[in-house]
Amino acid sequence: MSEIEKFSVSEIFGENVFNDAVMQERLPKKTYKRLREVIEGGHELDSATADVVAHEMKEWAIEQGATHYTHWFQPLTGVTAEKHDSFITAPMDNGKVLMSFSGKELIKGEPDASSFPSGGLRATFEARGYTAWDCTSPAFVRHDAAGATLCIPTAFCSYTGEALDQKTPLLRSMEAVNKQAIRLLRLFGNTTSTKVTPSVGAEQEYFIVDREKYLKRKDLIFTGRTLFGAMPPKGQEMEDHYFGAIRERIGAYMRDVNKELWKLGVSAKTQHNEVAPAQHELAPIYAECNVATDHNQLIMETLKKVAGRHGLQCLLHEKPFAGVNGSGKHNNWSITTDDGINLLDPGVTPHENIQFLLILTCILKAVDEHADLLRASAADVGNDHRLGANEAPPAILSVFLGEQLEDVITQLISTGNATHSLKGEMLETGVKTLPDFMRDATDRNRTSPFAFTGNKFEFRMVGSQASIAQPNVVLNTIVAEAFAEACDALEKAESFDDAVHDLIKKYATEHQRIIFNGNGYSDDWVEEAKKRGLPNTKSMVDAIPSYATEKSVALFEKFGVFTKVELESRVEIEYETYSKMINIEARAMIDVASKQIIPAVIRYTTNLANSINAVKTAGAADVSVQAGLLNETSAYLADVKAALAKLIEVTDAGSAMAEGREQAVFYRDVVKTSMDTLRAPVDKLEMIVDKELWPMPSYGDLIFEV
Ligand code: ADP
Ligand code: MG
Repeated sequence: MSEIEKFSVSEIFGENVFNDAVMQERLPKKTYKRLREVIEGGHELDSATADVVAHEMKEWAIEQGATHYTHWFQPLTGVTAEKHDSFITAPMDNGKVLMSFSGKELIKGEPDASSFPSGGLRATFEARGYTAWDCTSPAFVRHDAAGATLCIPTAFCSYTGEALDQKTPLLRSMEAVNKQAIRLLRLFGNTTSTKVTPSVGAEQEYFIVDREKYLKRKDLIFTGRTLFGAMPPKGQEMEDHYFGAIRERIGAYMRDVNKELWKLGVSAKTQHNEVAPAQHELAPIYAECNVATDHNQLIMETLKKVAGRHGLQCLLHEKPFAGVNGSGKHNNWSITTDDGINLLDPGVTPHENIQFLLILTCILKAVDEHADLLRASAADVGNDHRLGANEAPPAILSVFLGEQLEDVITQLISTGNATHSLKGEMLETGVKTLPDFMRDATDRNRTSPFAFTGNKFEFRMVGSQASIAQPNVVLNTIVAEAFAEACDALEKAESFDDAVHDLIKKYATEHQRIIFNGNGYSDDWVEEAKKRGLPNTKSMVDAIPSYATEKSVALFEKFGVFTKVELESRVEIEYETYSKMINIEARAMIDVASKQIIPAVIRYTTNLANSINAVKTAGAADVSVQAGLLNETSAYLADVKAALAKLIEVTDAGSAMAEGREQAVFYRDVVKTSMDTLRAPVDKLEMIVDKELWPMPSYGDLIFEV
């Protein structure tokens, strides 16, 4: 192994970011002050300030080697988009060029928007779209094969101002929860906090496979997941991968990923092997919601990019391998004031913390009333393979509070008063040389989709390749609504103390059905949840309509997060995405089965037939084994052929349908079923056909030989 390059984390951290320290150092005092006010939401940006900032940003970027700049945005494709412009301006008389970047170029871009999903919001002849600088997320210089590029995080909207991206509604929802939380804090006598911000830490799961092998799998290349594949002799049953020692090749890769991320100011903190072989996790330290969202995109980009350098391939799909655990993204969420108070911190004696109890019960109410929206926010084509499949939270929303808080809530419901809080005890290890320590009053629960974990909620339904924007838009907005309703009631109350007490009891009682501390993977829970009337929406196609129900439209319009038109367009986009993705999967299957699998099986049967003849010629009488194999293989081959013909037929029918719900339902109920029918005999054949002849690496090759 080559010499490991040494570097100092504190020196490289954020070196490619135009962050607060850089701005403070480089911008004139007045400009810096003005910009800070804009960032903190105090003012609109004026053009003089923008010009100065743009100039300094460009100078700094050029020092970093940047030749181009780009507005970096997040259209509804799930990935980021960028269009690069170089800093050069028209050549001067002396043949030289000037490098320039104006305030106008910084704050506004005009990418042709006609090829981004808009759900009918923007006719293609009205292709204009705008990107607008989000000064709350710092610009950065990214180094890659294209050189160095100044990336400016931006929002993206249509000519008529509708959001065409993830960031715009996210920023709007942050504003909504800020406003309502401050209102609530004032009622509790807080006069010092001026801003409340959601904080988010997203744990990212991913798979790493060998790139050479990856390139031999057309299904992985086209769809990100394997569409065929028999189970290897060993799966994850030994649980020897989880937290196992990290292999050298992966270790070198992770080190490189961390280094890149640190330079970009992403605080990559925790890394470990996950449950499935070849599966890993990376978690950053939590950050402000929109910065965390941008950072999660950077994490996904970096994981993919750096893998290539190590001869590896990163798979971000929710379910790259059937029968093996898939990947998700745990969205840790809390709300914090600008003077450092985490509103989800229960303190040592939660039963006495009235403000916390109100906030907690508001969240219970929000999750219960809008469970459908939260479910929809985690809906993703790949996630349909995961949710409810005993490896990820069920598709049923419930809240895990843990022993201590559940006990407080139970006291509240039964007597109207909570008088005590369960305490953590000393944990004795029984070994003198090991320290004894206080055990938390609450254990953890891995099966809950929405778990309270000490001072934050962990929303665990999100898919591994999805943006975390949408789940946070929903979380911020539904909590803002619950806060607003509580404030409406409390602001007009005669006795605040009595009113708040009654409200906590009311919310806890009315929404207790959403609390579940048991095993979310069990069948009993599915039954129990049904009795409680909790929705269990298994497929993305059925989750999508939740966005545009009357209830959702009222919610989002009230807080200025989405208009009805924007919501309806998102529903359209989701249906289209669903149909398109399944269509690609079906076509990839057709391609692989026709051009690779059937020819390989025919080669194998030809070998078998030849061998029967050869054995007979050699004078042996018994060829029953060979003949039996030939019969069995031929029978499966016939099944493959029939299933393939059917899949071609239904995929063509699906493609011919008009876009929308009906088409998506058809892809789910007819096309997907036909895909399963084709897969079954192919996976059987993989176990029979000579490995030398099988046209692609097996599951075992992919996940055990990285
Ligand atoms: P786990 O044990 O759940 O796998 P990790 O350490 O992998 O925990 O990830 C926990 C994530 O939660 C990290 O990204 C961490 O920064 C984040 N986090 C911690 N505290 C908060 C908080 N108050 N608000 C939001 N996120 C938080
Ligand atoms: Mg973790």
